[in-house]
Amino acid sequence: MTTDDTDAPKVPIVCSACETTSRVPLSTVADAVERHNDQLHHGEDIAQVDPDIADQIADLVATELGLLEDP
Ligand SMILES: [Zn+2]
Repeated sequence: MTTDDTDAPKVPIVCSACETTSRVPLSTVADAVERHNDQLHHGEDIAQVDPDIADQIADLVATELGLLEDP
């Protein structure tokens, strides 16, 4: 039985300053990055989506949008 992996894709956020990586659902990744940088780095853009998979994220988002917009 696979239940967790199929639902929301998780996106790794890396922060070079904190040396942390956290995985959050794709739908909340923008908020998570903003909140982290806001709370821990005074609004500086330090934490970010793992660059290695940023391209995949773009594909995921495009796919989701495509699915949503397709009649
Ligand atoms: Zn940080």
